Amino acid sequence: MGAVSEAENPARLLVVEDERHLAAGLKLNFELEGYQVEVVGSARDAGAQLLSDDGFDAIILDVMLPDASGVDFCRKLRDAGNFIPVLMLTALDKTEDRVSGLEAGADDYLPKPFELNELLARVRSMLRRADWQRPVQDSHPSMQLGDVVIDFAAHEVRAPGREIKLTQLEFDLLRYFGYKFVPDPT
Ligand code: CA
Repeated sequence: MGAVSEAENPARLLVVEDERHLAAGLKLNFELEGYQVEVVGSARDAGAQLLSDDGFDAIILDVMLPDASGVDFCRKLRDAGNFIPVLMLTALDKTEDRVSGLEAGADDYLPKPFELNELLARVRSMLRRADWQRPVQDSHPSMQLGDVVIDFAAHEVRAPGREIKLTQLEFDLLRYFGYKFVPDPT
């Protein structure tokens, strides 16, 4: 199979957090989980890091940074066409702040203070969701099952004489299971 296990290719996380003790604790615990971790303490440094290195798998983004709001930073990322998974850490446990984070394109959020185990579980889950979508698109732009062609790039399913309309969920499931069962081209 073409799947790359975490052990062979550990996920790389960018932690954007200006509270040094928290940042150090996060780095240590993520590393114990087998991730590779870079830590920066400002939106400016996060932007520079992302520009110089496109190998990150996810961002853990504090919402209250010294030079910017994490919400604004996330929105700028999405506006620039960067759809890396983002988990936002917010001290503001208010509904409107969660909503603004999600509307800015964050994939998930966690209010501070949080339980470490919950953060680790959410990061695992976020990376897993990203994995469902990425490998097939990258390595199998389309897939043929009998006379049915699943075009992952064009987001279409084509069959002779038939038009097959799928919801987003159905397409994601097809992509997921298709990926699981597509033989590796090598
Ligand atoms: Ca902060």
